[in-house]
Amino acid sequence: MALDLIRDEDGDVLGVVAMEIETSEVMILQARATLFATGGAARIFQASTNAYINTGDGLGMAARAGIPLEDMEFFQFHPTGVYGAGVLISEGVRGEGGYLINKDGERFMLRYAPNAQDLASRDVVSRAIATEIKEGRGCGKHGDHVLLKVDHIGDAVIRQRLPGIREISLKFAHVDPALAPIPVVPTAHYMMGGIPTNYHGQVVAPYKTGPEEVVQGFYAVGECACVSVHGANRLGCNSLLDLLVFGREVARQIIEDLQRNPHPKPLPYDAADRPLARLARLKSQKNGESVAEVGAEMRRVMQNHCGVFRFPDLLAQGVEKIRTVAERVKNTMINDQSKVFNTACVEALELDNLIEVAQATMVSAAARQESRGGHARDDFPQRDDDHWLKHSLYFSEGQKLDYKPVRLKPLSVESFPLKARVY
Ligand SMILES: Cc1cc2nc3c(=O)[nH]c(=O)nc-3n(C[C@H](O)[C@H](O)[C@H](O)COP(=O)(O)OP(=O)(O)OC[C@H]3O[C@@H](n4cnc5c(N)ncnc54)[C@H](O)[C@@H]3O)c2cc1C
Repeated sequence: MALDLIRDEDGDVLGVVAMEIETSEVMILQARATLFATGGAARIFQASTNAYINTGDGLGMAARAGIPLEDMEFFQFHPTGVYGAGVLISEGVRGEGGYLINKDGERFMLRYAPNAQDLASRDVVSRAIATEIKEGRGCGKHGDHVLLKVDHIGDAVIRQRLPGIREISLKFAHVDPALAPIPVVPTAHYMMGGIPTNYHGQVVAPYKTGPEEVVQGFYAVGECACVSVHGANRLGCNSLLDLLVFGREVARQIIEDLQRNPHPKPLPYDAADRPLARLARLKSQKNGESVAEVGAEMRRVMQNHCGVFRFPDLLAQGVEKIRTVAERVKNTMINDQSKVFNTACVEALELDNLIEVAQATMVSAAARQESRGGHARDDFPQRDDDHWLKHSLYFSEGQKLDYKPVRLKPLSVESFPLKARVY
């Protein structure tokens, strides 16, 4: 498990400090090229489709090393996570003819997106569901979810074309979709923001002379990176495309850079200090708080204050609350001090990363006074290109925000004019 980046006084990245989970041995991995492909961080939310490993480790390491996180307010909520579990029910169900209904049995997407209906983009459907729930048309005892109706397409078609969905529904919702609708709710799914990179996968930051200086020796690709091809709102399937395209390009760039710089730079004398201090604190901390409880509070704050709809008062409170949680993270303790597969220690280290991502998301969301893609403000419902056509950059130290312009000029084709998205 990579714990922290090694950066020298020029700001160049010279590798990582890592820990062998099997033995807890800490080691320095010195490298002329360090590529992060550490995935997303939707585990900062209570309801998430993401795997338990999606704890934003790459972002936490970058943030602690002084690299800003870009566009962190843009989180995508998938409209159909299984109620109570968050597990994904893919668009395939609606593609096969499934549709959403509220407590009155109304097919409500007809009101929100008369043309695309249930196949409107994820943010539109998520907001429609959130509105139905907010306005009292949600289903169940607490009125806190809606239903995805598929039974009309028949058991045989469901078994043949949607076997995985049938299994998820049976396992996580205890519902046979051929007999009853599946209870669903929007659930955090994908992070449009991340570690800022150019289209060669080189990490860029405003740390030397310009706003987008290449951080020598450091690369990022995949969901942890913000090359920003998805803007504020990724379309379904484009993540895997992003991985393939930029994965190939970053490999080409690394080979070129390694040929140009064949010799490793010397490591700074304090290369391992930061992660060793984090581990030493976990070893010596007495009377601290439980990692699980502090983590649960972080997820609650993110879900309630920075969810599908963002309200000004809730965001302002959220900034304060997540700061308080961050203070509590510094005071966590673990009882297990064994060296072999110490998952308690791993979870504590992951929480250090999650809280960096959570703060970046909350602070960036509170600042952006418009609605764009995955970021929907109740008080600023419109997209505001005059003031907000820009990328956010969140710096962990001092929780500072900066902005940089959006590149609107493609390299080889005509620029696509800006226009409002309508359904
Ligand atoms: C349920 C679900 C369905 C999806 N369906 C689609 C789809 O149909 N089409 C599409 O385009 N996208 C889809 N996505 C999104 C897409 O799957 C992800 O964006 C993509 O898999 C991210 O790939 P990645 O390689 O960047 O990260 P990941 O696949 O998350 O891999 C990250 C890796 O980094 C490792 N790692 C993390 N931290 C550390 C550390 N500190 N040290 C060492 N290793 C570390 C992890 O163990 C993991 O192996 C879906 C996502 C989900 C959750």
